[in-house]
Amino acid sequence: MSSSRFVVQLHDATRLHYDLRILVGGVLRSWAVPKGPSMDPAVRRLAVPVEDHQLSAGDFEGVHEGSRRGTGAVIIWDEGEAEIVRDDPGHMSVVLHGQKLAGGFGLTRTGERRWILVKARDEFSRPGSDVTAERPESVRSGRRWQDLLPG
Ligand code: MN
Repeated sequence: MSSSRFVVQLHDATRLHYDLRILVGGVLRSWAVPKGPSMDPAVRRLAVPVEDHQLSAGDFEGVHEGSRRGTGAVIIWDEGEAEIVRDDPGHMSVVLHGQKLAGGFGLTRTGERRWILVKARDEFSRPGSDVTAERPESVRSGRRWQDLLPG
């Protein structure tokens, strides 16, 4: 088990999506999660692996200038400590200590560019809940992504 960090950013690009980033070996291993994480262990969320990002990317909240797709708005939706329990090819299990996400999560590769993100059943799981709807705001600023846009 190794102690690390994670961040989830909500990003308005071609489509609104969540970027899950976990610090591994000095870079942010990253997945785009179209529907975002869930605290319901029965919910399986598609997580598309994307390239590793530099540490600084995980600190960004604002509007990407000149974004060609969507508004480019990004908020830091959640962040905190992450304990990496397992990191095998095609499978990662972590325990997150965020403000919204807590407890165990599993990431499992199911296809070429297709992983599944699922909440582990533990004392933090909340069957039937929808954390993305309940908590749309930035954990840093309290703003929603739409609040970042002019006018
Ligand atoms: Mn993104």
